[in-house]
Parts: sequence; C-alpha cells; structure tokens
Amino acid sequence: MHDNDSIFEQLVDRGHERLCFHHDEETGLKAIVAIHSTKLGNALGGTRRWYYESEADAVYDVLRLSKGMTYKAAVSGLPMGGAKSVIMLPHRKHPKTEHEARAMGAFVDTFDGAYIAAEDVGVDTQFIDWMAAETSHVMGGETVSRGGDPSPWTAMGTFHGMRACLIHSGRGEDFSGVTVALQGVGHVGQNLCRLLTDAGATVLVADINKECVDRVVDTCGCTAVHDADILSAECDILAPCALGNAIDGRLIPNLRCSILCGAANNILGDPEEDAVALKAAGIVYGPDFVVNAGGLIHLAGMHLGMSDELLQTKNDEIFETTAQILRRGEEMDSTYAAAVDIAKQRISGTQETGVHAS
Ligand code: NAD
Repeated sequence: MHDNDSIFEQLVDRGHERLCFHHDEETGLKAIVAIHSTKLGNALGGTRRWYYESEADAVYDVLRLSKGMTYKAAVSGLPMGGAKSVIMLPHRKHPKTEHEARAMGAFVDTFDGAYIAAEDVGVDTQFIDWMAAETSHVMGGETVSRGGDPSPWTAMGTFHGMRACLIHSGRGEDFSGVTVALQGVGHVGQNLCRLLTDAGATVLVADINKECVDRVVDTCGCTAVHDADILSAECDILAPCALGNAIDGRLIPNLRCSILCGAANNILGDPEEDAVALKAAGIVYGPDFVVNAGGLIHLAGMHLGMSDELLQTKNDEIFETTAQILRRGEEMDSTYAAAVDIAKQRISGTQETGVHAS
C-alpha cells in the first residue's frame, strides 16, 4: 500500500518538516528518517527494520508513522515532536548486524538531536546499543544507551486504554468475563496477554509466528486462533498488536467486537473515515496513538529527566486521557477526530494543559 502522490505532495499533505534518505556504501544500509514536527520539541520515534515491496511503501510507512508520533507526543502532554525512521531490508530474513546498526546510528547522529531514535518492529535493545556506539541521540538500550525495552510500558498503557473503553461502554472495569482477541503476540502483545489474563480476561491470540503463540498459550493460558480468523473473532475487545492497516472500511461490517483498542500503530487504513464507520457500527474505538503511548512516555520521559514516579503517573494518565477522548468523541465525528483535535490544539498552543483542561 502506498500513496500515488509525489513525495513533495505527500510531505505537504501530511505537514512534514523533513524527509531524509541515506545510503551507506560500506554496509549497503538504506534508511529513511521522517521528521513530521519539532514544534513542541525534539522528536523521539522508533526505527523500524522491514522488508518493503517498494520504496513508495517505505515512504508511505515512515510518513504515516512519524505523523502519528507527533499526535502521540502532543496528546500525552510531552514537550516533544514527532519522527520515525525505517531501514529498508534487502530481503525478509536479512540478519541484524552491528555494522548495520552502527551505520544507522551514524545517520541518526547527523540530525544533532532533532531526531532521537528508539525501538520499533525489528529492532531490539541490542541493536539500539549498537546504534548508541555512534550517537547519543538514541533511547531504549541496556548498556550503552538507556531506557530498555519500552514494550512493557506500551502494554500497560494499552491496558489502561482498554479499561477506559470498558467503562465508557458501560461494562465497568472488571476484566473477568471479558474476551479479548489479540492479533500479534510479539514484544507488546505478550506483555498485554499477561496483564489481561492476570486481570481475569479470556484472551484469544493469533500470530504468523507459531513460537510466539505457543509462548503465550503456555505461560498465560491464552487460546490460539487461526490468524485468518482473529480480526472477525467474536469478542468484547479486538486488540490489533501486529502491524498497521489491520482494519479498513471493508472489514468493519465483519467485526464482532464492541471495542477496538490495540497497540499497533495506524490500526485503521483510513483513520478519518474508518473511525466514523466504527462509531456508526456502535464500536467504541480507543485511538491507537492515545492508548499505545506508554513506550514513548517512558523513553521520552527518561530523556527529559522525569523521575520513576512521574513516569508511572504519566503512564497511568493514559486511562484518563482515553476516557476524556471517548467522551469528546460522542459529540464529534469520531474518537479519532477528538484525539486529533486535542493534539492539534496542544501543538498550536491553544491548550496548554492537555486533555485535562477540557
Ligand atoms: P514485534 O515485532 O515484537 O511484534 C509484532 C508481532 O506481530 C510479531 O510476533 C509478528 O509475528 C506478528 N505479526 C505480524 N504480522 C502479523 C499478522 N498479519 N497476523 C498476526 N501476527 C502478525 O513488535 P512490537 O514491538 O510488539 O510492536 C507491535 C505493534 O505495536 C507495532 O505496530 C508497533 O509499531 C506498535 N507499537 C509498539 C511499541 C513498543 O513499545 N514496542 C510502542 C508503540 C506502538
């Protein structure tokens, strides 16, 4: 999937500041950094290692992801902008190497701190520490860089978002008797399985990687579902936690959930239209960039020098932020529109204290 517009048209449409391409001759690294906005501050966003069918797909992905980071930081009340990077792998199984990571670190260093890299799909703490050998503008490592794996924090924030959705739909916040269908049990998904099953939920899981499924079936008592069936599984909460574009207009009539709330970035193919369709179908949607902000809050908060206590408080605030956005969504076209509205107000400086001021 990609946009047919020229690159400049895409930058203008989405309001990006910069899109930078890099090729490292020695390692063959091909990478792109997209800085959507630095209006609220320097921009922290993960590096995704992925095999893209075309350059246009990589550009589309990095532009969408980086814009989402701007909204995520703003809605979370962080004085940070939004950016993201992708490494275009030459083939699906291309191995992670220190050479590649260091070449990426050197590229990140050229932004002089306007862009701060971190984990995303395909990048782990080791890769971050390798990158950190070349730049101090990276978070999420364990030895050279700081912060560690952000996914437990992302899972915790998504769990808070789910609680808010349950309460908003009149179910109370007791997860016993609640069925969650979870697509993608990687770093975030497996942590979320643990939180949900500990809280008493029944969790159906699917992943294209069988080992990941087996792990949460064995350790958390989740039930495996074929990955072709997970999105249309009958459940209370559908939680896409794999890649983006999981749900689009064609799929919405087939959904058998009352809540859509997951950790994946860009869950909706066309968020403006699809969120309206979800509302019309009576499905409560917890916008992805609101509920999955836990990892960003953790790493950006550490970068900004917040105490452990404040980091915890800000993660817990995802519950109240989601609840307020769900309420606002009642009066607007959708919860997505409500969340974007709050983010834009914060970016333009008309809402200094975030959602709590409404
Ligand atoms: P991950 O790579 O560890 O896990 C993703 C999992 O999804 C993998 O196990 C993969 O096999 C599976 N998957 C991919 N395509 C699938 C499909 N079609 N059907 C079923 N399973 C599929 O990534 P992660 O760090 O857990 O991130 C998951 C999502 O959450 C991504 O969209 C990421 O951008 C988003 N996110 C992650 C964080 C974080 O802290 N890691 C923060 C915010 C958002």
